Amino acid sequence: MDRKTRLKNIPFNRPFLGQAEAAAVKKVLGSGKLSGDGVIGREVERKITKLFRAKHALLTTSGTHALEMAMMLLDLRAGDEVILPSFTFVSTANAIIRAGAKPVFCEITEETLTVDPEDLGRRITSRTRAVIPVHYAGVSAEMDRILGTAKACRLAVVEDAAQGVNAKYKGRYLGTIGDSGAYSFHDTKNYVSGEGGAFLTGSEELARRAEIIREKGTNRANFLRGEVDKYTWVDLGSSYILSELLAAILSVQLEMRHEIQKRRSHIHRLYMDLLGPLAKSERLRLPVVPKSCESNYHIFYVLLRNERERNSAIARLKESGIGATFHYIPLHSSPYARRTLGTRDLELPVTDRIAGTLLRLPIYPDLTDNDVARVAESLRKILTSREP
Ligand SMILES: *Cc1c(COP(=O)(O)O)cnc(C)c1O
Repeated sequence: MDRKTRLKNIPFNRPFLGQAEAAAVKKVLGSGKLSGDGVIGREVERKITKLFRAKHALLTTSGTHALEMAMMLLDLRAGDEVILPSFTFVSTANAIIRAGAKPVFCEITEETLTVDPEDLGRRITSRTRAVIPVHYAGVSAEMDRILGTAKACRLAVVEDAAQGVNAKYKGRYLGTIGDSGAYSFHDTKNYVSGEGGAFLTGSEELARRAEIIREKGTNRANFLRGEVDKYTWVDLGSSYILSELLAAILSVQLEMRHEIQKRRSHIHRLYMDLLGPLAKSERLRLPVVPKSCESNYHIFYVLLRNERERNSAIARLKESGIGATFHYIPLHSSPYARRTLGTRDLELPVTDRIAGTLLRLPIYPDLTDNDVARVAESLRKILTSREP
């Protein structure tokens, strides 16, 4: 115990930041123009459209806000339903409710922990308007099947690609496959601006309306481009524009994308090798990246045999100075959903089992090979010792 506590702690996450970000922020401060939709924000938007082959990209104050914009653009009415996995972050569901519709939770697949296309089909009613596939851990949902169902039932597809920046499905970047998509640049994601996000769409019409929503419901963006001579209130909106200060940080981060991706991919492979024997002896299950997907290795998770073992592993890794953690409490079983959406009797057994057994391990560019080996060895000891 004594020897262990002298080892340095390995935190669960650490954003990859250097001097270039500080210099970029300083430059913006010097310019005196700190608010958003300026030269730098626009340059970063162009960069995003080019890098990820998106038609339109609008920087937003968060991934949450990009999802809110996407939902507002659907013109949902009371009684409309939007299907999403229960195994996701709260923002996916909040965006639906804030736009006046009802979230309908669906099951996930065992393989990638993303929307189960069959269960999605079963939950479609005459009131269903859209589906939000969530690309978990940087691995795409089964987009071909989801798009097929959506087309047949005339549903909009909004990709929650908060965790999917720079990841692909059949050669296409996540966030650019559906009608619209949302990215996040929160500290916990692969590329960070502190708080931040982006709304993506292939539709000129949606992009134009998104600009208005983002600018408090005014056509100020048209005014700045000289398309109208005064700007005014033309739609319902909010304040979703990313500050130039944060856009400057993001610009540097996107330049680092190869380095960040390379390191994350390397760590993922190391974990897969080191934990392979534990998977073979069925003490845990390793993550799957299907052939159709190129991951950005946002999360490295393993699935343990039961919840008790998972919780004990988190506690014991913590004692060894290693930050490992669970993930989502399924939304359908959350206090808010039970109280306001009547989900008490909803049964999503795969979701519940995954949520109870999933363990996330540290993965970020600053993590050394030795750190990875220490995490893997600690986990091996915990899972193979007789007494938990
Ligand atoms: C991070 C995340 C969000 C929210 O992004 P923020 O930028 O933190 O608002 C939404 N959905 C998923 C799946 C996420 O992981």
